[in-house]
Amino acid sequence: MQFTQEHEMFRQLVRRFVQDEINPHADEWEEAGIFPAHDLFKRMGDLGLLGLTYPEAYGGQGLDFSYTVVFCEELGRADCSGVPMGITVHTDMCTPALAHFGSDDLKQQFLAPSIRGDYVGCIGVTEPDAGSDVAAIRTRAVSDGDDWIINGRKLYITNGTQADWVCLLARTSDEGGYRGMSLIIVPTKTPGFSVSRKLRKLGNHSSDTAELMLDDVRVPKANTIGPEGMGFILQMQQFQRERLVGAITSYAGMEKTVRDTIAYTQQRSTFGQPLIDNQVIHFRLCELLTEIEALKSLCYRAADQYIAGDDVTRLASMAKLKAGRLAREVADTCLQYYGGMGYMEETRISRAFRDSRLLSIGGGADEVMLGIIAKYEGILPGKKKARPATTQPAPAIEPAIEPAIEPATEPATAPVAASPRTDDAHEARAGAPA
Ligand SMILES: Cc1cc2nc3c(=O)[nH]c(=O)nc-3n(C[C@H](O)[C@H](O)[C@H](O)COP(=O)(O)OP(=O)(O)OC[C@H]3O[C@@H](n4cnc5c(N)ncnc54)[C@H](O)[C@@H]3O)c2cc1C
Repeated sequence: MQFTQEHEMFRQLVRRFVQDEINPHADEWEEAGIFPAHDLFKRMGDLGLLGLTYPEAYGGQGLDFSYTVVFCEELGRADCSGVPMGITVHTDMCTPALAHFGSDDLKQQFLAPSIRGDYVGCIGVTEPDAGSDVAAIRTRAVSDGDDWIINGRKLYITNGTQADWVCLLARTSDEGGYRGMSLIIVPTKTPGFSVSRKLRKLGNHSSDTAELMLDDVRVPKANTIGPEGMGFILQMQQFQRERLVGAITSYAGMEKTVRDTIAYTQQRSTFGQPLIDNQVIHFRLCELLTEIEALKSLCYRAADQYIAGDDVTRLASMAKLKAGRLAREVADTCLQYYGGMGYMEETRISRAFRDSRLLSIGGGADEVMLGIIAKYEGILPGKKKARPATTQPAPAIEPAIEPAIEPATEPATAPVAASPRTDDAHEARAGAPA
């Protein structure tokens, strides 16, 4: 990953935005259990921050994913994780499939206003009985002339109380398992759509999380992203970007946590010396910084692969796994060095500790990442044909579900392979988004 002067200028822009527009409000939004997404996104849209890699024809910047890396690194330095999560759900988790496989009309209707910051988007995959096992979803869209009639429930949906539209995964045929699903854009003002609950959470308080109900919701079939029946494949592909973005956003926050802890332990003394002078502490903090650097390098390698248009599933899964585990380790270790102060609500480390727990669950749990990695290594029981451990190309797609699809328009900057290459029944358990 090579950063240029342009990247550096862009970094300063995002850094200032975080300092001026997010951090001063972080405490208030954490307390409120929500941040004002429409207001914040509009200001981001005005700065061109919401469609970095999307085509200029829809208001995007037409840049490559290296700018997303910078964007996420700077968002990760915010004083809370909830707001960066809400932002990245909008920019990189509910929009990639739409941007790359949606029709021109669908993109004009939903992508362009989302890039401008007029609309807030969310991603609806998880259900009460289907999280890790995405193939178990029950939300059903039944054909009625040119429309879908949709019934079902979606759970733990980030931005769910504020979103103008949902990128919804639903069953559109009677084929079981991972076959017969489609990704459908559902405007939240459609009759029959409702937010049944705003959920209270352990952490990420500034981000709203909702349960959504769909009761005979009628939307045009033209709202389907890509070909009907390809929703599972498209969502699995969308997950790769989500996982990479989740990992990148996390390490900048981890580094900030360690550096804040260094500053705290330098000024706090016990037994006549600063805490940091205890070898067990300065060694441990240096170990953590080393791990963070290793994660960063892994993310940069994965990002390079993504930019090259290669299958990034293996490295994105490794990055997500490592990020989830390291985030917990960093937050727990650093909180310990704050002592009682670390347990106090007024200290940022207590928020980081709560927020850190999500990454090993959302966007695909650690165990789901391990299953995918094992599959790619050819050591998942029953999946030994996959391929040797060190090779990079994606495993073969099961012929029955290989998508014969191309992006609706050539994604000028999109590093997504034209033919999504996520496969098989194990990926059917490939976790839902953050
Ligand atoms: C704050 C928050 C925000 C979220 N935002 C969204 C969103 O915007 N959109 C959306 O669609 N979803 C969202 N999710 C859902 C999230 O992606 C799921 O919670 C996640 O995929 C796990 O699914 P689950 O909760 O149903 O856990 P389950 O599938 O019930 O799994 C429970 C646990 O079992 C273990 N496990 C599962 N499968 C295996 C296995 N095969 N082998 C071994 N162990 C296993 C894992 O440890 C896992 O954590 C969000 C969740 C949270 C908490």
